[in-house]
Amino acid sequence: MPVGMPGMWRDIPKFLLGTEPYFSLRWSRLPRLAPWLSRLLWETRRSRVNSNAAALAILAKEVKPAWQDMLDQAGANEFVLRRGWLKVYETEAAFQATAAVRELYDRHGGAYEVLNADEIRQMEPLLAPIFPRAIYFPEFDSLTNPLRVVQTFFADFQSRGGRFLNGEVIGFELGSRPRRVRTTDGHLETDVIVLATGAWSRDLARQLGADIPLDTERGYHFMLPSMDPGPTRPLLYGDYGFALSPMEEGIRLAHGVELASLRASPNYSWVSRLLPYAKRMLPDLNIEESSRWLGFRPTLPDSRPIIGASPVHSDVFLAFGHQHYGLSLGPVTGRLIADMVAGRDPGLDLAPFRAHR
Ligand SMILES: Cc1cc2nc3c(=O)[nH]c(=O)nc-3n(C[C@H](O)[C@H](O)[C@H](O)COP(=O)(O)OP(=O)(O)OC[C@H]3O[C@@H](n4cnc5c(N)ncnc54)[C@H](O)[C@@H]3O)c2cc1C
Repeated sequence: MPVGMPGMWRDIPKFLLGTEPYFSLRWSRLPRLAPWLSRLLWETRRSRVNSNAAALAILAKEVKPAWQDMLDQAGANEFVLRRGWLKVYETEAAFQATAAVRELYDRHGGAYEVLNADEIRQMEPLLAPIFPRAIYFPEFDSLTNPLRVVQTFFADFQSRGGRFLNGEVIGFELGSRPRRVRTTDGHLETDVIVLATGAWSRDLARQLGADIPLDTERGYHFMLPSMDPGPTRPLLYGDYGFALSPMEEGIRLAHGVELASLRASPNYSWVSRLLPYAKRMLPDLNIEESSRWLGFRPTLPDSRPIIGASPVHSDVFLAFGHQHYGLSLGPVTGRLIADMVAGRDPGLDLAPFRAHR
């Protein structure tokens, strides 16, 4: 789904006043953010939403096969929970506000079912009986331990001869082709560059000839104790914009969009305010968190990632801007970029993801 949706402008007063539970803006960020925000609003026109959703659908269709290839190669299938996601709504107004999203799913072949209170209870009996409506996404999978999945992929990469160097990239030396990557620890000789530094990509991309309107939507995670019995799939509280997902280490609460800079300190108290709502959703939940983190979603105003060659330099490729879906789309983008680097036809129309579109 695109970040910018039709009618979003109507919520601007609530966003600015901080009354939406899932959205927060640091006012000090507003001057820097204004161009990005105004472009985001431009992308909420219905014609733009439709074309952005159509572009994302091109990638979404590739997610399952791309993930399956990687899981099979690395031997990581045990970490996948294949029970769909359930998004529950306490108020009719919150459910009705999903009309535009459901219309996009209908248009692009995304599978979902609307459930009533009885069906919700049958599916997840631990949920409080306060939800008359839900949307069930049967094809969405989840990971029970994303860290271990990435570690397994990494071990597979190394076993195939991949090398890992840990350092901060600060610049590039480019001739007709890339020559060197400059890091805080020295130089790296190279003949191909793939820039995949997520929300930190803007300045580096500029050095590579691409001026990209990238900013970050920050988001938070709290790990809560496991439940036994517990929820059997990720549960999203539609009215309050957070998710509770069963994982190996506990129940993960993931929440929110905070517009603030990459360097601004975290505001965990904003998320703590949601814990009573998590308990309201799952009354048996223990809400003492054991770990917390702040993450950075890399987002362009049109919600489309950049996947493609630098508009200026040969053998330089850009792969960032996957907003709320970077975990899902990572294997897709990896495969596409590998094809481009190797000179193979990626087999998809990647024009919607060009740097200068
Ligand atoms: C709370 C939360 C929940 C989320 N849930 C989901 C979900 O359920 N499903 C989903 O698909 N997505 C989810 N996302 C989004 C997802 O995490 C992002 O889209 C994804 O991490 C982007 O991947 P990336 O590799 O582009 O960037 P990142 O994961 O941010 O990786 C970029 C890497 O580049 C490194 N880097 C930066 N600058 C430099 C430099 N100069 N030199 C060297 N290295 C550098 C960084 O240290 C980092 O390791 C969630 C995000 C948040 C915050």
